Amino acid sequence: MTPHLRLVPDLPEPRPKKLAKRPSAKKAAERPPAQFWRTTGFTRLAVPLAGVLGGKTAKAFEALKVKTVGDLMLHLPRRYVSGTELSDLRNLTEGEEVTVLAQVRHASVHAMNSGRGAGKFRLQAVITDGPGTLNLTFFGARHLVDYWQAQLRPGARGIFAGKVGAFQGQPQLTHPDFVIIDEHGNVIGGAQRNVDLGKVAGASGRIGLYPATAKLRTWTIANCVSLTLDSLTGMEDPLPEWVRRQADLIDQQTAYRSVHRPDTEADVVAGLARIQFDEAFGLQLAMARRRAVTSTVGAVPRPRVDGGLLDAFDARLPFELTEGQREIGDQLFADLARPHPMQRLLQGEVGSGKTVVALRAMLTVVDNGGQTALLAPTEVLAAQHHRTITGMLGDLVGADLLTSGGIGTGVTLVTGSLSAGRRREASLAVASGAAGIVIGTHALLTSGTQFADLGLVVVDEQHRFGVEQRAALVAKAAQRPHTLVMTATPIPRTVAMTVFGDLETSTLTQVPAGRAEVSTVVVDYQSHPSWLARTWQRVIEEVAEGRQAYVVCPRISDGSADDDAGAAVEDVYAQLTEGPLRGLRVAMLHGRLAADEKDEVMGRFVAGTIDVLIATTVIEVGVDVANAAAMVICDADRFGISQLHQLRGRIGRGAHPGVCLLLTSTPPGTPAAERLAAVARTRDGFRLAKVDLEQRREGDVLGADQSGIRSGLRHLRVLEDEDLILFARDLATACLESDPDLADPGLADIVDSVELRAAGDWLERS
Ligand code: ADP
Ligand code: MG
Repeated sequence: MTPHLRLVPDLPEPRPKKLAKRPSAKKAAERPPAQFWRTTGFTRLAVPLAGVLGGKTAKAFEALKVKTVGDLMLHLPRRYVSGTELSDLRNLTEGEEVTVLAQVRHASVHAMNSGRGAGKFRLQAVITDGPGTLNLTFFGARHLVDYWQAQLRPGARGIFAGKVGAFQGQPQLTHPDFVIIDEHGNVIGGAQRNVDLGKVAGASGRIGLYPATAKLRTWTIANCVSLTLDSLTGMEDPLPEWVRRQADLIDQQTAYRSVHRPDTEADVVAGLARIQFDEAFGLQLAMARRRAVTSTVGAVPRPRVDGGLLDAFDARLPFELTEGQREIGDQLFADLARPHPMQRLLQGEVGSGKTVVALRAMLTVVDNGGQTALLAPTEVLAAQHHRTITGMLGDLVGADLLTSGGIGTGVTLVTGSLSAGRRREASLAVASGAAGIVIGTHALLTSGTQFADLGLVVVDEQHRFGVEQRAALVAKAAQRPHTLVMTATPIPRTVAMTVFGDLETSTLTQVPAGRAEVSTVVVDYQSHPSWLARTWQRVIEEVAEGRQAYVVCPRISDGSADDDAGAAVEDVYAQLTEGPLRGLRVAMLHGRLAADEKDEVMGRFVAGTIDVLIATTVIEVGVDVANAAAMVICDADRFGISQLHQLRGRIGRGAHPGVCLLLTSTPPGTPAAERLAAVARTRDGFRLAKVDLEQRREGDVLGADQSGIRSGLRHLRVLEDEDLILFARDLATACLESDPDLADPGLADIVDSVELRAAGDWLERS
């Protein structure tokens, strides 16, 4: 069940016996304690930009999130234009900031003799890329206009930057910044008299156009890069020679020169390969290091206990565990028995039964006299976990110690919305150790909750939590607790390796037998208006058969009649209860209800006294009502793929075949329509996760609050670069095996800089 780990492709060459660069023991002892003051050269990459370019320029670079020399080296041109190729001027959008390489066709000066401009002059120029043209307009006093005209001689080539405006239906740039360059890429003139006379191209005249700002034009960036590149001369390469050879990479400095000043297309490719490898390798080395460190940290072993709560629970289980559930259970028991903290990711298909797996691990810890915390992303989900776990445990819950033959534990819910009295009660149960199982939202992280003996933390639906948030909870225990992280939906392997790379992974692929089919249909009511009535008819039929249904809406009303944001839950509720669903027992659930109201509504839906629940995505994760067989998702195109997959996972949990209707008015052929089609095509979460990643950048897929180390992914795509990530991971593992303490200053520096950046990102965010 564990994902298959590739072996190291070739055995790494042994590291040279004598490392020229390793500082002697004496020298190391003299070294100041702060790790980043190493004596070797690579730390130049960590130097703040101000140190090389001055404070004012460094400040301007902040808008581009470029703060250090290393950041600047990784600020790569968006594209390259060769000496002869010009930008395409035909597809400019009004309002867009553009940087174009073009040739001057003509420029003429006109006196302005009316209104405000009287006494001033206007310079009108046309630049061209061959097929297209773009107008430039400048206003100013005679001497200025003459100066510009002298720069903009017909035939001159330049880089022009500014915001596209329109004049009489034609695109134009008003007062663009520009530099004029010769055929070698030397800057020979420009908009300012004191223009930096640098060089913006490689030897072959290839020009990189950088992501730029109005304050920091591409040629200024090119100049700064040049200066900075020079400052790096003589810097050592942090990658050990054998790794570089194994991965067939050019050295770091050459790579930086190649991407910023390429002479050939091949230069860019080779440079980028090195930069991408560095990114993948740094991340994997840091993750491997975190795993290694964890394996040296102490934790209280909580081995499986015979004849305890777990056995009593297993005996009461109303179903057979699936093979996967049993196998992963055994894996967890083995982890928990070790004197080091478990660090495991449990990922699995929606409805694969992760909760039982986690609960069995929790009970093992309780059998050892320890406590466990289960963290959920929402109050609804925390309350539901509390309800299901209490239900599953039955007479094993603390209060019924007598009937269970003396075996049991307290189960306590701690959420932000508890009344002060109940909060105190809960805190007491947690602090005294009476509650073996504590369930809550992330409020558990911030509250003053003290545990008597926290042995295991289970984080449900991890993608809502940041890596560092998890660390914060773990830090609460006197000794590191064991940690189990569960993802809501399956994730591609490389995502697991990068985002959760500090964790071992277990995967539940099986869904318990006897689960019903769910058919999913895209209801395009724009093209087929009659389908809408049929949709509600279908809900009524399900209810007539004794089933229940969800209607999911993308948002809560905010008072505005903003149809663009999709249907509001209150409006849908009003329309349906007065219209198609009149006569059914319908209730509404959304995040703005008070906690006890939410509980009450959910409780009634679970009990079956509500037929149709009209809700927002508060029901997205984890809600588990087996009798619910139908789901209608309004404005389904507003949701992402994994969200739709999660939502649909709420039905088809019992034996009743489910039906999921995706309402949309989006025309076929759009990306949104393709998303819906993909969801309708398959219920395989892994396949959907891939489609999702192909459509979006990984950051969006994983939720914006997923913080820390992941944001280090700048030049890598987790899907496209899967091979590279796997390869880098193997090499990183090999490096740590041969050098577990990172005595190699280069490797140590690589890890330090990844960790520093992760910490920096985290600090910035909080
Ligand atoms: P998820 O993995 O999506 O969190 P849950 O843990 O909520 O899934 O489980 C979904 C449902 O399946 C629950 O009602 C649970 O009781 C039930 N279930 C779990 N394991 C099994 C099994 N082995 N056989 C039958 N039903 C199971
Ligand atoms: Mg779940």
